[in-house]
Amino acid sequence: MNPILLILSILIIPVLLIFCSFGRAMNTESLKITAAIIEGMIRQAREGLPLEICGILGGKGGTASVLYRVANAESSGVHFLMDPREQLDAMEDLDAKGLDLMAFYHSHPANPAWPSAEDVRLAFYPEVFIVIVSLLKPDEPEVKAFRIIDKKIFPREIAVV
Ligand SMILES: [Zn+2]
Repeated sequence: MNPILLILSILIIPVLLIFCSFGRAMNTESLKITAAIIEGMIRQAREGLPLEICGILGGKGGTASVLYRVANAESSGVHFLMDPREQLDAMEDLDAKGLDLMAFYHSHPANPAWPSAEDVRLAFYPEVFIVIVSLLKPDEPEVKAFRIIDKKIFPREIAVV
């Protein structure tokens, strides 16, 4: 191979890789959720007080339309751990129904709707949205969506459909 071409390709490949991951991180995709699912997550978050609650959203065609409540095995107000058995059941049910795994959600009973350091550390699915329901202001629940890619937090719009 021509040495100049070789040098060029060595230079160009990392630039392309950086550009691609930048594009994925910066893209402006939104998470579409039905109003019933938003209400369902807020209801569960309120019922679960003072503990964090959690669950899984599934759907088709980019819209989250099915909600699975999953027990918080940690029974904590500041941590959650999806009960592994219930998580597996939910994911198998999604699969059986031909639905996509779209989001993992949990509540922050007394903290803002922003991923905690632990949420970032435990985010192993960059292709799945992380949804947080905050009851910091009890009368004004906040629901926010994120992607966490390579330990970095990328807020995403939620479109209620
Ligand atoms: Zn959290």
